[in-house]
Amino acid sequence: MLKQERYQHFVEYFSKHQPNPETELHYDNPFQLLIAVILSAQCTDKRINQVTPALFERFPTPESLADSTSDEVFTYIRSVSYPNNKAKHLVGMAKMLVSDFHSVVPSTIEDLQKMPGVGRKTANVIASVIYNAAAIAVDTHVFRVANRIGLTTNARTPLAVEKQLTEYLPKDILGIAHHWLILHGRYICIARNPKCEECPLTWFCKYYARTHTESYLQKAEADKAKKAKEQKKKKTLDKITKELKKRSVNGSGQ
Ligand code: SF4
Repeated sequence: MLKQERYQHFVEYFSKHQPNPETELHYDNPFQLLIAVILSAQCTDKRINQVTPALFERFPTPESLADSTSDEVFTYIRSVSYPNNKAKHLVGMAKMLVSDFHSVVPSTIEDLQKMPGVGRKTANVIASVIYNAAAIAVDTHVFRVANRIGLTTNARTPLAVEKQLTEYLPKDILGIAHHWLILHGRYICIARNPKCEECPLTWFCKYYARTHTESYLQKAEADKAKKAKEQKKKKTLDKITKELKKRSVNGSGQ
């Protein structure tokens, strides 16, 4: 199957079955989404949604967060991964928002990436979710699922995955495709044992074709070897039985 066809099937399936996917992070405004996405690095959305209500209540604006200390922020986010670093990043991000961007979350990936704690992935999420920019954020789910399905080839870094997805996917659905891949990776195409038996994409998934063809061949090979072994065993037994009969006949005749 051509790569282009695979993309076509991918877009057709999800456009029909999941036309309006959304982030599972809870937020009410761009500032809150920025905080939530920074916190979500190497942590689950579920965990982030548990800590953000109190955090957002205590720090409703960039100014309030900028005036705080990382020690205080830490007390609100201690249960997420890397709380020390993330607390520092949040305060640094808020300070820069106030000083350089008039307390408004910037819209370009370049400006977003200037802030502490904001890497390319976070910048792409904010730019696409808040500002509808033609950008696709590549996290661990997007990286894995795109590769398994065969939307990417030999893409060894998130940036390489981002480039290939951007090249093949229509610009206006890049942001949506990000959610499709994340949700599929989170619930079906999970890291260790993908739930292929529940997956509706098997018929165009490269990983499925490869793994299932291989296992089929391996099983066929094992069956063949087992049959040959059994035939050999039967042949030997037949030979022994025949020999014993022959001796028995010769013995009774003496
Ligand atoms: S068939 Fe399996 S590997 Fe392919 S996308 Fe579905 S769950 Fe993932």
